[in-house]
Amino acid sequence: YIRENIRNVAIIAHVDHGKTTLVDAMLKQSGIFRENEQVQERVMDSNDLERERGITILAKNTAITYKNIKINIVDTPGHADFGGEVERVLGMVDGVLLLVDSFEGTMPQTRFVLRKALQANLKPIVVINKIDRPEARPVEVVDEVLELFIELGADDEQLDFPVVYASAREGYALYNLNDDPKNLEPLFETLINHIPAPKGFMDKPLQLLVSNIDYDDYVGRIAVGRIERGMIKTGQQAALCKKDGSIENVKISRLYVFSGLKRIEADSAMMGDIVAVSGISNINIGETICNVDAPEPLPFIEIEEPTITMTFSVNNSPFAGREGTFVTSRHLRERLFKELETNVSLRVEETDSPDSFKVSGRGELHLSILIETMRREGYEFQVSKPNVILKEIDGVLCEPVEYLIIDVPEEFMGVVMEKLGSRKAEMVNMHSSHQGYMRLEFKIPSRGLIGYRSEFLTDTKGNGIMNHIFHGFEPFKGEIPKRQRGSMVAWEDGEAVTYGLYNAQERGTLFITPGTKVYEGMIVGENSRPEDIVINVCKKKHVTNMRAAGSDEALRLTPPVILSLEQCLEFIEDDELVEVTPKNIRLRKKILD
Ligand code: GDP
Repeated sequence: YIRENIRNVAIIAHVDHGKTTLVDAMLKQSGIFRENEQVQERVMDSNDLERERGITILAKNTAITYKNIKINIVDTPGHADFGGEVERVLGMVDGVLLLVDSFEGTMPQTRFVLRKALQANLKPIVVINKIDRPEARPVEVVDEVLELFIELGADDEQLDFPVVYASAREGYALYNLNDDPKNLEPLFETLINHIPAPKGFMDKPLQLLVSNIDYDDYVGRIAVGRIERGMIKTGQQAALCKKDGSIENVKISRLYVFSGLKRIEADSAMMGDIVAVSGISNINIGETICNVDAPEPLPFIEIEEPTITMTFSVNNSPFAGREGTFVTSRHLRERLFKELETNVSLRVEETDSPDSFKVSGRGELHLSILIETMRREGYEFQVSKPNVILKEIDGVLCEPVEYLIIDVPEEFMGVVMEKLGSRKAEMVNMHSSHQGYMRLEFKIPSRGLIGYRSEFLTDTKGNGIMNHIFHGFEPFKGEIPKRQRGSMVAWEDGEAVTYGLYNAQERGTLFITPGTKVYEGMIVGENSRPEDIVINVCKKKHVTNMRAAGSDEALRLTPPVILSLEQCLEFIEDDELVEVTPKNIRLRKKILD
């Protein structure tokens, strides 16, 4: 059976290439909004934090109806760190829409997801966006895309991809650059003509693979997935097939389909539909919802295991509670457990102390995004040094190892290889890719990645891309030499503007807090205390003069680099804590009784 009136497509785009604008314009033009209804929020809008880091963390669904055909658009994460989400999203669709800025061209960040999409045999459509820009170079960009597809191993059919030229902002798309701009019809037509309609068995027992979990305060946990086979009805009994092979009888109390930006209730849905189901409180990603009398689960989709663990606790500093709105263990507990509803590769465990929780995640980026999000929400708490999760396998101590894929311009290869070498990475593969870029592949202990991301971005001047996926547990590779740190002061026109961690091996790594002043060699800042090492998050400020604290020796003037939370996690010692407040992140010595 073929669902001619459905198309399921994932959208892949580099941040700022116009994904949100395009989907907005498609929604508006499809007439989905009745006349007085304003578009309240932008579709799939990544939160600020995601935007800053150039990644999208959560995949969200939008549905647009065009000529009686429903187009489900699923957002793809720009990052592979979060437990196999890319594969799960791509599993729901039959094609991908690759959106590329007609000036910037293809960006390395999209390569990872694109490669997965091509490997999954999905049909690509290429949209060259922002052709209204005077500096647009659409023809060249199409060639670049073609080259990239060849390099990523696209098959002949995929290489024959349709191209649409668009201005998402002006709301038009063109088949050919010299066509007259009208509206987005060429894009809609290309979508419905080139993305295959879902195909499968309608008359066989239900199979709905849970690919994502959403959460709503009213209905609780919501499972999102595609119906691979059969039909589903509201109110029906179903079998939930779990990972361990057990089967649980459940009721489909509410069923939803997507419409515009909303989830709307539906009485039934069938093969090919992307749906949401609520009312099953313990449902999880990877499980299959089946017919009660014929439970045949689909292959379970694994969620990657956490590899790093940290303790989150109530701030016990004598200065605690001055900046945060949410400061108690109850606040912290509720927030962390709520996070579990949707953050599928996160674990939260109670500890002996009611004030502390053990939080485990997929890497320091995963945990530091949670920390940063909570900070911005007004939480004040402290976190401990991150530790990798070790396992004893056949009497051998093993540690998590990641498969790391790096794309860098050739000129930065040396520094990347050197740094990774000292972090116990082992090169597995290296080849030149496109336009002077090299692709380097490594196996590296998860430990070795702590603090590396920001260092990497600095070393490659923002041109490098790194993605890693969990590889497995392997025998402990031995200690990674610790990098030294010291403190230093920098000032501008006589006034100190910084005090921070200083990496003595690589001069010039420091960070700046506004309002920090040096008073007779001591650091006194609005937010700083003598035992603090102030770490922040403010904008880079040009520093013209730096000296190591307590020393007259002038240091080489390199542009200052602001330590991120991730970097700070690398430096933190056993007897230190990172104090997180809405205003600041500080490293401080543990207060001993
Ligand atoms: P996203 O990060 O991919 O979701 O990108 P946005 O949709 O937020 O767009 C990023 C920026 O590009 C915004 O300032 C948009 O106004 C702008 N933009 C999006 N589409 C176009 C376009 O077709 N032409 C021009 N000139 N700018 C665009």
